[in-house]
Amino acid sequence: MGVPSVFLRTFGCNFRCAGFGMPRGELSTDADDVASIHGAYPFASYETLPLVTTGCDSYASWHPDFKDLSPMLTTDAIADRICEIIPHGKWIDEHLVITGGEPLLGWQRAYPDLLNHPKMAGLKEITFETNGTQKLTPEFKEILIKWKITNHQLSREITFSVSAKLPGSGEKWEDAICPEIVCEYEQVGTAYLKFVVATEQDIADAECAVGAYRAAGFKGHVYLMPVGGVESVYTLNAKNVAVAAMKRGWRYSDRLQVPLFKNEWGT
Ligand code: SF4
Repeated sequence: MGVPSVFLRTFGCNFRCAGFGMPRGELSTDADDVASIHGAYPFASYETLPLVTTGCDSYASWHPDFKDLSPMLTTDAIADRICEIIPHGKWIDEHLVITGGEPLLGWQRAYPDLLNHPKMAGLKEITFETNGTQKLTPEFKEILIKWKITNHQLSREITFSVSAKLPGSGEKWEDAICPEIVCEYEQVGTAYLKFVVATEQDIADAECAVGAYRAAGFKGHVYLMPVGGVESVYTLNAKNVAVAAMKRGWRYSDRLQVPLFKNEWGT
């Protein structure tokens, strides 16, 4: 938190996470939040979309109805846009965060061109914000390992921020908790687990999941993060979640963008 970062958001996800913000066992459907959004369609940009309190708060990054808000850009165009955003027009201390949707879907084939682009040469740290279900292809794994050691002037790092989905998300355990895949990320860089929780049951599920990851050999840190893309929901349980993390020797992850920017897209 607090590190200047450029977020590259890819389109598409293998999940829907329709259980977020719903009573346990119920799923939000297109009959509620997203349907009401459709009623006001079309939207010109992400910034004008409404925030939702049930289901995935990043719905526009995978829901097919919003695909036209995600332009297909060339590698050159992405590199140019990034250099427009970073303060000195070139990488100094900024991180690149690749997020989604799920950024480790087929996009793995597109990243090598971007990472090897001349305008990306000064980049030192990449974080993939993933749900931890997608295996790295052998080709991409090799490219990432090479990328770390290619520029000897830089000490490069790769982080996998694994937001593994618990049953409260509405996704099935066997689809969402994939310890061997996450252990493989640790062969490439640093990985940590981040569980988004709201209830005692979510925290008990997180404990169970951590047991499965540790049994598979996972060595990284574990974070708890309170549910809440909007301020009213977030502030309700932040302190309880922090206390629960401390009791277990885990870490607490705030949602810095919520108090700073309130309820806005693009944060
Ligand atoms: S894995 Fe992430 S992006 Fe995909 S549906 Fe769930 S919360 Fe949304």
